[in-house]
Amino acid sequence: MALEPMAIGVMLGVGEAPEESLKKVLDVGVTCAQMGRPPDAWLKPAKAAELKKMVKKSGITLTTVFCGFDGERYDDIPTVQQTVGFVPKATRAARVEKARQIADFAKILGVKNVAAHVGFVPEDHTDPDYKAIVTTVGAFADYLKKNGQNLCLETGQETGECLLRFIKDLGRSNVKVNFDPANMILYGSGEPIPALKLVGKYVAGVHAKDGIWPTEKDKLGTEVPLGKGKVNIPRFVQTLADIGYRGPLTIEREITGDQQKKDIVKARKLLERIRAKVLTKA
Ligand code: MG
Repeated sequence: MALEPMAIGVMLGVGEAPEESLKKVLDVGVTCAQMGRPPDAWLKPAKAAELKKMVKKSGITLTTVFCGFDGERYDDIPTVQQTVGFVPKATRAARVEKARQIADFAKILGVKNVAAHVGFVPEDHTDPDYKAIVTTVGAFADYLKKNGQNLCLETGQETGECLLRFIKDLGRSNVKVNFDPANMILYGSGEPIPALKLVGKYVAGVHAKDGIWPTEKDKLGTEVPLGKGKVNIPRFVQTLADIGYRGPLTIEREITGDQQKKDIVKARKLLERIRAKVLTKA
């Protein structure tokens, strides 16, 4: 079923049991979702096919599957640099292999967008490691292309300019962006709305998430409930509309438990109000 313009969705945590996750989606009153990497057992084709049936029965549309890897930690910026995505050399090959398994899992589910945090790509594009990362990520994008899928780069760990350069250096038509405005603030990578305009034509998904700037060197900022941070959510959604984006607005709230659910429901209501205004104008 085709989604309505700017359908509101929710991001499911990495490693959550999919059957419980589906219930969570319906509990917060939305019908589309991005899925974090499921536990390994679910990556097996038979389990993925079983999950596909469960998703169909639930009426939920899965829009994206995220790659996530063992050993990734987000405690502070040096830890992110050392542990996240395809950047750390020691785990690069194994993670590409895992990412391919996740892509195949997504293909069985009929999900076209596969997203990942690449990690801290070196800002200096003459750095030999920059070229190595372009080669690795480019090869993964080619694998996805054969699956009929897009690679969506999750934003945040780089400036808009660096991201644009990286996309151009990759030079693959199926490389897109999953734009997370809060990450840009949390990592201190620059104002998100100008960055959104810069990479606008590549945006295939977004996270509706908010945050406040870091106050200490090497520390991340703080993720806060939607509308309570420095993104300026009404302007973010308006900018998305202005660049012609009509895809899902996927709420991401990176806490757990009851408070997460409450915050997501509030975020949904906020987005419903903003979307109504923005789409009437459009
Ligand atoms: Mg995100």
